[in-house]
Amino acid sequence: MTGKLGHYTAVLALLVVAIVAIAVGLLAYVLDSSANRLDKQQLATQTLIVKSVVRRQLAKLESNVTDYALWDDMYDRFAGKPDPQWDIENLGPFAAPTFQLEHIAVLSADGTLVYDYDRGSAPMDGKDRARLARLTVPLIDRARRGDMRAITGVFEFAGQAHYLAAHPIWVGSEKREAGNERPNFALVYLKALDRAYLAGAAGDFDLRGLHVDRSAPMVMLDAPAGEPAMFGLSWQPSQGGRQFVADSTRLLLAAAPIVALLLIGLAFGWAGIVNQARDSEVRSTEARAKAAEDTSRAKSLFIASMSHEFRTPLNAINGFAECLKGDVLALGMPEKYKEYAADIQASGQHLLRIVNNLLLFSKIEANQHEARLEAVSLGEETTSAMRMLNILAQQRGVRLATAEVPAKLLVLADPQSLAQIIVNVVGNALKFSPRDSEVRIELAVLRELGACDLRVVDQGCGIPEKTLLQLGQPFVQADGVYTRREQGTGLGLAICLKLAAQMGARLLIDSIEGQGTTVTLRLPLADPSAIEPASPERLAVAAA
Ligand code: ADP
Repeated sequence: MTGKLGHYTAVLALLVVAIVAIAVGLLAYVLDSSANRLDKQQLATQTLIVKSVVRRQLAKLESNVTDYALWDDMYDRFAGKPDPQWDIENLGPFAAPTFQLEHIAVLSADGTLVYDYDRGSAPMDGKDRARLARLTVPLIDRARRGDMRAITGVFEFAGQAHYLAAHPIWVGSEKREAGNERPNFALVYLKALDRAYLAGAAGDFDLRGLHVDRSAPMVMLDAPAGEPAMFGLSWQPSQGGRQFVADSTRLLLAAAPIVALLLIGLAFGWAGIVNQARDSEVRSTEARAKAAEDTSRAKSLFIASMSHEFRTPLNAINGFAECLKGDVLALGMPEKYKEYAADIQASGQHLLRIVNNLLLFSKIEANQHEARLEAVSLGEETTSAMRMLNILAQQRGVRLATAEVPAKLLVLADPQSLAQIIVNVVGNALKFSPRDSEVRIELAVLRELGACDLRVVDQGCGIPEKTLLQLGQPFVQADGVYTRREQGTGLGLAICLKLAAQMGARLLIDSIEGQGTTVTLRLPLADPSAIEPASPERLAVAAA
C-alpha cells in the first residue's frame, strides 16, 4: 500500500470512529428522551390505577354500610333493647371479618356512641369518638330532612389512616313512618390503610412501595365531607424507560467498539480492493504500452528489411537507366528515348532517396540505430557539407553565405548524423527559398551553456503554423507550390530531430510563413574550457 493510500485509509478509519461515536451519542440521547416519556406515561397510568383502587374501595364500603343501615332490624336493634345474640350474628363479630373492617360503630343523633366494635386494633378513645360524632351528627340531621346519602373518605382514626363510610340508619317500616319516627342513628364502617392492606393492593397492581404519605403524596386522598384532607398515597414509579436505557447503554457501549472495529476493517478492505484495482490497471496499461511498442518495433523492422530489399533492384534500375541514356544515340534511337531514360533515372533516384530515408527512420524507431559520439570539428563537417550544397545553391540561384567556423571548435556528435542534419536543413533552406534570395549559416558559441548553435537562416516561403506544430512526425509536408515542385519525402526533418536527440543535441525550428525560416542546431561542446572568446563572425558568400 502506498503512503498516500495509507494516509487516506487512516483518515477514513478516524472518520468511521467519529461517526460511530456520534451515532452512539445520538442513539443514547434518543433513548434517554423516549425513556423519559415512557416513564411519565407509566407514572400517569399508575396514578390512575391508585385513584381507581381508592374509589372502588370507598364505593364498596359505602355500599356495604348502606345495605346494612337499611335493615329494619338494624333500626329496631338500636331503637329497642340491645340483644347480644343479634349483635353477634349481624354486627361486629359477623360484619368486620366479612367486609375486612377494623371498626364498626353506631352513633345516635346527639353523637353518643351506642355501639362500638374493634377487631383487635387500637381501641377508640374520647377524642376519636368526638371526631366521629362531628361527622355523624350532621349526617343524621341531613337524613331527617330526607337526604339519605352516605359519606365516605379517608379519615384519621386511632392515629392511623382509615377508609371510612357512614350512613344514617333507616326508619323503614310503615308503622314507624306513621308514628312520624325519624332516623336517629348512623352506622360507621372503618377499614385501616395498614401495611398489610397496602402491600396487597400494591401487589395486585404491580406497584412498588405503596404507602400512606402525609407530606407531598403522589395521589391525595379525599377526606369525608367537612374534614380536612390529610393523607395521600405514594409509591415508587416503575421507571421501565430508565431501566431500558441502562440496559441499552451497557449493550451500546459493548457493541460500539466492535462496530467501529468492523467498520475500520471494512475501510482497510476497501483500500485494499482499490489498491488492487489500481495495480491491475497500471499493469494492464504497462502491458498495453509494451504491446504497442512491440508492434511498432515489429512494423519498423518490417519496413527496414523491406526498404533494404528495395534498394538492390532500384540501384539496378538507376544503373541501367544511366547506361541507356549514354547508349541511346549510339544505338541509333531517337533523341526522345534519351529523355525517357533520364526521367527513369530521376524517378529511380527519388525513389531511392525515399527508401533510404525510410530505412533510416525505421532503424531509429526499432532502436537499431545508435549514435557514435565523438569530438568532431564542426568547421570541417560544415565545410565538407558545403561543397555539396554549394552546387545545389548554384542550381537554385540562391546565395549561400556561410560563417567561418573555426576548425578547432570541437562538438560532441556522431559525424554521420551531424553531416546528414546539416545537409538536410541547409538543403531544405535552399529548396524552399526563391531565386536571388540568401541563405545564411551562422555560428554562436554559448560558453555559459557549454554549447554552440549552428543557425540556418533563409528568406524562403516559411512553414505554416499548422505544419510547424506537426514537424517531427514522419511524412509531414506543408501544402504549397514549393513542396509540390520539390517532391520531398516528408521524412527529412523527422529523421533530423531523432538524430539530434540521439546525440544529445537539439534542433529548434522557427518560421514565419511568407518571411523565412530559421533552424538552429544546438550542439554540446566537446571541451567547453578550450573555447576562445567568440570572434566576430565572418560570412563567406558562395554563389549567386
Ligand atoms: P521534405 O523531404 O518534404 O523536405 P522535411 O521533413 O525535410 O521533408 O520537411 C518537411 C516539410 O517542412 C517540407 O515539406 C516543407 O513543407 C517544410 N520545410 C522544411 N524546411 C523548410 C524551410 N526551410 N522553409 C520552408 N518550409 C520548410
